[in-house]
Parts: sequence; C-alpha cells; structure tokens
Amino acid sequence: MTPRPPRRRATWVIGEDGRGPGDYSAGSRYEATWRCELDHEYPMRVERRVQGGGCPYCASRLLLIGFNDLQAGTSTSRALE
Ligand SMILES: [Zn+2]
Repeated sequence: MTPRPPRRRATWVIGEDGRGPGDYSAGSRYEATWRCELDHEYPMRVERRVQGGGCPYCASRLLLIGFNDLQAGTSTSRALE
C-alpha cells in the first residue's frame, strides 16, 4: 500500500534554535512550528504531523479571525453542513 500524501502540504519553520526536520526522528515529541500552504503558522509535535496532522486553522479547529470565524463563513459553514 502506498501511504496517502497529507491533504495540505506544510513546511517546517526553522525556529530560533536553528533546528530543522533533519534534527528529529519521525516519532519526536518536539513541538515544531509549521506553515501551511495558506501561510498559517501553527505549532505541532513532529509525531503528530507525521501521522497526518494538518493545519488547525484550515480544519477550523482553531479560530483565525477573518478566515474561519462564523462571519467569514467559508470553511466554518462547510464544516457545519
Ligand atoms: Zn492553514
């Protein structure tokens, strides 16, 4: 079976410590900062990201005013359908 690619690609944002994806194992609990293709930045553990965890703003699990609040409507109203 081929692993399914994540729905949205995210890039690792190199932190102040200068560490990147090459410094951690796939099961690491290090909380890295990621940036999704819509430029949302969010912290997520490496292990969770590897398991397919996506951007919490795109998934409307976290509120981003003007993007997924109830007034902005787009992804939130889809999620409520
Ligand atoms: Zn996003």
